[in-house]
Amino acid sequence: MLGLMQDWPLLVSKIIEHAAVNHGDVEIVTKTVEGPIHRYTYADCHLRAKKVAQALERYGIQPGDRVATLAWNTYRHVELWYGISGMGGVAHTINPRLFKDQIIYIANHAEDRVMFLDTSFVSMIEEYQDQMKTIETFVILAAEEHMPETSLKNAICYETWVEAEDGDYDWPKLDENDAAGLCYTSGTTGNPKGVLYSNRSNVLMSMVATGRDVLGNSSWEVIMPVVPMFHANAWGIPYGTAAVGAKLVLNGPHFDGETLHDLIEQEEVTSTAGVPTIWLGLLNYLEETGKRLDGVKSVLIGGSAAPLSMIIAFERDYGVSVRHAWGMTEMSPLGTIGAMTRETVKWPDEARWELKCKQGRAILGVEMKIADDDGNLLPRDGKTFGHLLVRGPWIASEYFRGEGGSILDADGWFDSGDVATIDERGFMQITDRAKDVVKSGGEWISSIELENAAVGHPDVAEAAVIGVPHPKWSERPLLIIVPQEGKSVDRAEMREFLTDKVAKWWLPDDVVTVDELPHTATGKILKTELRKQFEGYKLPDA
Ligand code: AMP
Repeated sequence: MLGLMQDWPLLVSKIIEHAAVNHGDVEIVTKTVEGPIHRYTYADCHLRAKKVAQALERYGIQPGDRVATLAWNTYRHVELWYGISGMGGVAHTINPRLFKDQIIYIANHAEDRVMFLDTSFVSMIEEYQDQMKTIETFVILAAEEHMPETSLKNAICYETWVEAEDGDYDWPKLDENDAAGLCYTSGTTGNPKGVLYSNRSNVLMSMVATGRDVLGNSSWEVIMPVVPMFHANAWGIPYGTAAVGAKLVLNGPHFDGETLHDLIEQEEVTSTAGVPTIWLGLLNYLEETGKRLDGVKSVLIGGSAAPLSMIIAFERDYGVSVRHAWGMTEMSPLGTIGAMTRETVKWPDEARWELKCKQGRAILGVEMKIADDDGNLLPRDGKTFGHLLVRGPWIASEYFRGEGGSILDADGWFDSGDVATIDERGFMQITDRAKDVVKSGGEWISSIELENAAVGHPDVAEAAVIGVPHPKWSERPLLIIVPQEGKSVDRAEMREFLTDKVAKWWLPDDVVTVDELPHTATGKILKTELRKQFEGYKLPDA
């Protein structure tokens, strides 16, 4: 027997419509590409999103057509998101930090028809445009007075284009399973693969993510997602803020500690989110200037593991509660969140900070388990590591155009490629990417755990661990560090420092110092590149 409830498709356009009707006067504030602060409201955003939809229809964009954006977190990018997905197009957010060949590959693979781009990327795309086979028109996200001289073919000024419309538009009643967005994973091997989000998956995840134990959004919050909209939909945060009518603060192309701090103070930000690298910059700035983070209640850290030292700095030194989250592009991206329980919130600080190093518990809509190489279920004891498998309604069932073949097992589980433990309380901890674990004498050493312990040293800015071939143990860990400016740490000192932090057999066989580490376009350490750099490296006792 079917239930007798209304058919109300979960559409992305419903989110901005809801925000405009119920929270119409709440602000979206942007530190623009040009520099000045821009302010408007959810009602303004809704109107402009409708104008975008009208303009796209007038242009001839059909349902399912891919429309690319190459843009920072700005109000224009937000209205484009809603406008494109709302009219039935697919908002394809391209990560501008990818390499040239990847960007060209992605645009061609997606068969983007139109590209919206910030002025920051015009010269880059001028160089690539001849190899982008399907893009007919480039719309530059600027007003006439800021339009650059450009050789881009069919270049249009966004403001003129959008303001030619009147906004008198009704959102079409799409199927909730229609595609809404496309985001390519910046895989460290092979070509990037497209993850095709549906209206339903985006709305469902945003609804769950607003919960108190997840992002904790509410209408009295001021939320600044520093995570870019081209990185897995800024973890769904712009949707979640609109869903509850929270004020949204966008940092545009400005990621330095000073600008972020200015925005936090001036706009009274209560909650923010980003990858650890961003927070390193902000924490350094605070230390140098003696400034505070008063008013900020929580910071969401994800994308890479949040080191203990960072968690302590936020919580103890600045009174900001850390929420550690894990997910991936293929998961829209939220999978787990390290919110405290009624029991653990009462733990002494040190124990709680240790627990916050774990990536947390699955949110409703995400099923999660760990398994061995043969697919056997492993225990939730907090010690046994295994392949982390997930399934749920906002997790990819396959990549765009079937790239990479079938990605689910017979029971519908997706292998995240991560290795993790799950404890008795359900707190999951990532110990590694499956391909990055150091396999020493048949046992696994977690490169992430070693790296986190190493960055706890006051003279270390960043650290990476790779496995190096060893005649007896098959592989042994090599620790590569970037010291703090003007400092140095040698092998003996580092091994001594790590002695009470990791098992003795985990201690790195050697420690080398470099000026910088290679990173992927989403800020993760590029281990493939490091392995190339250190190919043939001879360990001291090997
Ligand atoms: P991406 O699709 O670029 O967001 O990358 C997803 C991958 O980032 C995951 O599979 C993990 O390997 C890693 N990751 C994301 N969040 C965390 C976290 N909190 N701790 C450790 N690794 C993480």
